Amino acid sequence: MNTNFRIGFGYDVHAFAENRKLILGGIEIPYEKGLLGHSDADVLLHAICDALLGAFALGDIGKHFPDTDPKYKGADSTVLLKEVYAMITDQGYELANCDSTLVLEKPKLLDHIDSIREKIAELLDCSIDQISVKATTSEKMGFAGRGEGVAAYSTVLVQRK
Ligand code: MG
Repeated sequence: MNTNFRIGFGYDVHAFAENRKLILGGIEIPYEKGLLGHSDADVLLHAICDALLGAFALGDIGKHFPDTDPKYKGADSTVLLKEVYAMITDQGYELANCDSTLVLEKPKLLDHIDSIREKIAELLDCSIDQISVKATTSEKMGFAGRGEGVAAYSTVLVQRK
C-alpha cells in the first residue's frame, strides 16, 4: 500500500435488555440494563473495530468474528479489538487518532468518558489524547431516543509507522 494515511468509519447498534451488564469501551457502566448481543455487546468497541477494518478494506467485524460461531459467545470485545488492531500494525501502520460518538438517552456518561478513553488508549497502545469519545442523546426520537438501545459511530485515521 503506497499511502501514508488511511481513514476508516464504523457504526454499530445494540438493544438494551434486562439481566445484562452494560459494557461500553471496555468499561462496565453501572445501569439497570445492559446491551444484548452474542458477545459482550460493547457497541463502542465494535464500531471502532469496524472503523479500523474499514481503513484497510478488510471487511467488517461480522466477517472476522461471526456471531454464528459459538467461540465468540459472550466474547470480550477488548480481545476482538486487540486482534483487529494487530491486523493494522502487522501491515506497518499505527493509529493516529480515533473519534467516536455514542448515542443514548441514558445513562449519562460524563463521569465515565475519561475511563473509557483511557481503556481504549491502553488497548490500542497509544496516548489518551489520541482517543476521543463523545456522547449525545437523540432528543427522545428514534430507538436511541426511546431508550431502546445504543448506537455508536467511530472514525479512525491510521498512519504508516
Ligand atoms: Mg456489535
